[in-house]
Amino acid sequence: PLRWVLVGASDIAATRMIPAMRALGQEPVAVLSGSPERGRRFAERHQVPVAAKTLDQALSVPADAVYISTTNELHHEQAVAATTAGRHVLCEKPLAMTLDDAADIVRAARAAGVVLGTNHHLRASPVIRSIQRMVAGGHVGRPLAVRVHHAVELPQRLRGWRLKNPAAGGGVVFDITVHDADALRFVLGREVLDVTATAVNQGLAAPGVEDAAMAVLRLDGDVLACAHDAFTVPHAGTALEVHGTDASLLATDAMTQDPDGEVVLRRGDATTPVDVGPRDDLYVTGLRAFADAVHGEGEPLATGADGFASLAVALAVRDALRSGTRTPVIPVS
Ligand code: NDP
Repeated sequence: PLRWVLVGASDIAATRMIPAMRALGQEPVAVLSGSPERGRRFAERHQVPVAAKTLDQALSVPADAVYISTTNELHHEQAVAATTAGRHVLCEKPLAMTLDDAADIVRAARAAGVVLGTNHHLRASPVIRSIQRMVAGGHVGRPLAVRVHHAVELPQRLRGWRLKNPAAGGGVVFDITVHDADALRFVLGREVLDVTATAVNQGLAAPGVEDAAMAVLRLDGDVLACAHDAFTVPHAGTALEVHGTDASLLATDAMTQDPDGEVVLRRGDATTPVDVGPRDDLYVTGLRAFADAVHGEGEPLATGADGFASLAVALAVRDALRSGTRTPVIPVS
């Protein structure tokens, strides 16, 4: 079982990742916080044996892997240090804040010969996986369009840096659009070529930080996608629809952290439920695949290259917001 160093005394580590690690018999052996006091409290509350005070100290604790869930501006330096120290790395999204930094992480992991994963949890969603299978199996015919409804109300406890601090990677595009980008690439097996977008501040985020956005994306083969991403919409629920020449797939509660949601296939007047299979915890599924990759079997559900690609889409969306023009997405080289 993997021994993990947690870099970041974060909400996602506490609420999802530590429980998922323990469900698999994996063990968090150390946590690093920028604040010794918060680190000590986090370690105590979650029974993590070591509260490290520096990254060097955290990386000197015997362990197999490092899970990085700090604010986004810190991912690059921490991921490079962890891979260089010979640890396998699972990094939160966005992988970094710039494509140069993301490429640097991917290179560092390759040079060290370690596994690098990006924690795009939606690839582990039973609903998203069943849509991917149905599309790949030709059940919708030729895909024409995808609609992603990912406008939610940001929980009170997460209304910190996401809303206030652009330097830490705040804003809805780095938080939610980046997940949509990965889900689209996964579900369609196609790359996003270019984007246009509009974002606004609907009064939840600090001035200058976007808390709601709509993006239009063009993928390989002229598949169109649209995404509505927001921190400000309490009652919409999430959804994902794939529309093809032969049928449409309609999923409700598709873009969540839990294994809920339903999928139907609609063809003419006939609507057929799709069996989404076992409803395993998304984070358990992701960690299981990561551990398998460490043991030489397969790859993480989302690799470092996938993290680069989703970031490239998010950055293109941000550029499009500023320029107001259709913006190409820089491809993975
Ligand atoms: P948090 O705000 O909980 O944690 C981020 C950092 O903020 C922590 O590393 C911590 O710093 C600091 N922090 C936490 N609590 C406090 C506090 N009370 N006072 C001051 N500072 C505090 O972030 P999230 O867990 O929401 O997000 C962390 C990362 O995970 C991000 O990259 C985000 O994009 C990603 N994420 C991914 C999700 C997924 O499902 N894949 C879901 C949610 C987030 P320190 O470590 O120095 O103590």
